[in-house]
Amino acid sequence: MGQTNKKPNIVFIFSDDHAFQAISAYKGPLAQLAPTPNIDRIGKEGMRFDKCYVTNSLCTPSRASVLTGTHSHINGVKILSDKLDTNQVTFPTVLQSLGYQTAVVGKWHLKSTPKGFNYWEILNDQGQYYNPDLITREGQKQVEGYATDVITDKALNWLQNDRDQTAPFMLMIHHKAPHRSFEKGPDHLHTYEDVTFPEPSTLFDDYSGRGTPAKTQEMTIAEHLKLDSDLKVYLEQNVSGFNKRMNEQQRKAWNKVYDSVKTDFLSRNLTGKELIKWKYQRYMKDYLATVRSVDDNVGRVLDYLDKNGLTENTLVVYCSDQGFYLGEHGWYDKRFMYEESFRTPLLMRWPKEIKKASVNADLVSNLDFAQTFIQLAGGVSPETMQGLSLLPVMKNQTPKNWRSSLYYHYYDYPAVHSVRKHEGVANKRYKLIHFYEIDEWELYDLSKDPKELKNQYNNPSYLNKVNEMKAELKRLKQQYKAS
Ligand code: CA
Repeated sequence: MGQTNKKPNIVFIFSDDHAFQAISAYKGPLAQLAPTPNIDRIGKEGMRFDKCYVTNSLCTPSRASVLTGTHSHINGVKILSDKLDTNQVTFPTVLQSLGYQTAVVGKWHLKSTPKGFNYWEILNDQGQYYNPDLITREGQKQVEGYATDVITDKALNWLQNDRDQTAPFMLMIHHKAPHRSFEKGPDHLHTYEDVTFPEPSTLFDDYSGRGTPAKTQEMTIAEHLKLDSDLKVYLEQNVSGFNKRMNEQQRKAWNKVYDSVKTDFLSRNLTGKELIKWKYQRYMKDYLATVRSVDDNVGRVLDYLDKNGLTENTLVVYCSDQGFYLGEHGWYDKRFMYEESFRTPLLMRWPKEIKKASVNADLVSNLDFAQTFIQLAGGVSPETMQGLSLLPVMKNQTPKNWRSSLYYHYYDYPAVHSVRKHEGVANKRYKLIHFYEIDEWELYDLSKDPKELKNQYNNPSYLNKVNEMKAELKRLKQQYKAS
């Protein structure tokens, strides 16, 4: 449609708590049983990033880093309840000034009113899966349907009907899914009900070999993943937090599944390890079926771009606000700098510039999107931004002096899940973590210990490495104005 000389469009699809282990493009142990063909398509027709990490593995801080291109201590969103000050420069504001039509639909979660968007329609805080409330400039109203479908409907409607078709666009599609409590949609209530998923080898981790924080967290499937409000089994008759927002038809379909789950549970009399195994299976069935709706809706977006001649000159990004534990270390949730939560999935497609089926292993970050999109739009990034444009990486032209380490900082303690405050530095092989309030250090050698089971901090043979990583941490803190 003659748009190859125009500035590229950007579609940024952002899910919440979507583990890379739950995307089949990453070929993990769940890939065969729980495929994500549409998300995979972005990688097949573009690039899969294998080393994308976050600055702070938590919903709101990650969103703030994406928008501002800065670490939490600069943008002020350090913990879940912090509000984004939208007077700071964000990439959508810059793109607007460069002539882009901009929109965000779905989970915003930053408390303040979105700024820099021609159109926005957002969930109320965490939002709801069924018949969610959506907020616009005109106020709040409930919309019938399943959140993942509704968000995509709204996004496609804006693309089709409500934007200035002569201008390039930047559309952020922010799903609530598959965030806790992993409520699957009407199309996938029965998906995976008959599947048994492989257990991670660390499901019964005893946390020996690590320090206090791994032992005192409160995010285990065994103790903290709740039978009722997480796994939907209410032992008391007629009590369910999940049915409240559903219409009659949705409720009936839902109850059909979870009544059987409850019957099954009651027939088993499970305790100890058997109970944990059962809970893990239920967790996976719900989580992965919730993911499946995200994948279906990614497919709808890709199809729309195809049908409207937009594929060639649109950068499509799929990413999550952080990673998530799918039973590794016996956990669900995120927060730690350990690999499953520190790392996040990232796939990009832009046929004009990205070679098909590329795989990239450079260290990239959620800090990088803002500058990437600004460069793509032909702008110059404000000096306050702390990331790197991914454009050369996307073109397989990563500069020789590309970053070799990443800075991480988690602040939300005391808080739900009781993960201690920590900061750290990681390169492709080593990770140094400092739980500074209790002054405990951990060093992991990921080439020998990819599951991070053995803290080597006090091992004399790693002394030089510890000192090297400490120096690197200090250097990064100076670079990012964190000290
Ligand atoms: Ca999240």
